[in-house]
Amino acid sequence: MEYSGVLVVGEQRGGSVHSVTYELLARGRTLADKLGVSLACVVIGHRLEAFGREIVERGADVVYLVDDSSLEWFIPRRHSAELAALIGQIRPEIVLAAATTAGRTLMPHVAARLGAGLTADCTGLDIDDEERLLLQTRPAIGGNVMATIKTPSARPQMATVRPKSARPLPRDPGRHGEIVVRAAACDDAQSAGERLLEFVRDTSQDVSVQDAEIVVAGGKGLKSRDNFKLVEELAGLLGAAVGATRDVVDLGWVGYPHQIGLSGKTVSPRLYVAIGLSGTIQHLAGMQTSETVVAINKDKDAQIFRVADYGIVGDLFDVVPELIEKIKTAKNARLAGAR
Ligand SMILES: Cc1cc2nc3c(=O)[nH]c(=O)nc-3n(C[C@H](O)[C@H](O)[C@H](O)COP(=O)(O)OP(=O)(O)OC[C@H]3O[C@@H](n4cnc5c(N)ncnc54)[C@H](O)[C@@H]3O)c2cc1C
Repeated sequence: MEYSGVLVVGEQRGGSVHSVTYELLARGRTLADKLGVSLACVVIGHRLEAFGREIVERGADVVYLVDDSSLEWFIPRRHSAELAALIGQIRPEIVLAAATTAGRTLMPHVAARLGAGLTADCTGLDIDDEERLLLQTRPAIGGNVMATIKTPSARPQMATVRPKSARPLPRDPGRHGEIVVRAAACDDAQSAGERLLEFVRDTSQDVSVQDAEIVVAGGKGLKSRDNFKLVEELAGLLGAAVGATRDVVDLGWVGYPHQIGLSGKTVSPRLYVAIGLSGTIQHLAGMQTSETVVAINKDKDAQIFRVADYGIVGDLFDVVPELIEKIKTAKNARLAGAR
């Protein structure tokens, strides 16, 4: 049987489909349409019945729900055995998973089981029109170049994709698709002794920079931890999350969960305000899909202006306090008007 079709590996968290699944479906839909093939999505876990409909409405033609009480918790070897079994059966030519902690753990196992390659952490995916191969683009050599990788011989072609590097398709209640609920194909022997001892939530990662609609990010141009409070104050006024460059995190002005870029988080907010940061390729890798970018920098040639929709060339110590005052005045006026 030929390899054909695109398969997206969905994720579920705490009883609902993780939003990254919908981002992958948007990517997968574009690839499947270019190839003229169908788009499938698989979710592995327990009590999944309610998930199928929205996955179809977000772009899938077929949804496989591999549902078993033994699959409730993410046990990498157990889940990789299930996924490899499904791939062996439906033989997709492309498999996409999220570059989340779970995806980054699961997919190398699956690749090893299938004897296939895996391109991790892609930021761009496309189809080579002539060869019909998946073009997998990701930062390489310390983020200084963007490399495009092809997998000419092994099948399926497999890639993990950075969360927030694509926008989900809107729900289309009129879409039709097939929902297949399957029992587990493997047994617990596949876990090879891996089992869940305890689930401990990492509260240090609770900064919601990835989910925020607005991010205000600061760079080394702020010059000190004390001055970085300007970024925090502006973020507070806008109801935004605070982001930072790696240099700022390395200086200890804010914690790692705030870092945006190649070695930090990828964000895609409606509004990204970049203050006193130069816009290196490593930083841009984490924010360039933001809807609107506003940059404040005293250097008119700063790289950040290349991706900015609005640029303010000026000293941030003049511009940001003025912005803060203007927003406060506007808010007070609105409050007074409402009384
Ligand atoms: C493998 C690797 C991974 C990396 N990962 C990341 C990552 O995930 N995220 C990341 O951000 N970086 C990352 N980096 C680091 C990256 O290369 C840069 O060092 C970093 O992004 C620069 O941070 P910055 O913009 O804060 O500082 P700078 O590049 O020093 O920029 C400071 C900016 O502030 C402006 N400025 C100064 N004073 C003022 C003022 N008074 N008013 C207005 N503007 C002012 C300057 O004009 C300048 O543009 C990585 C590097 C490597 C090698």
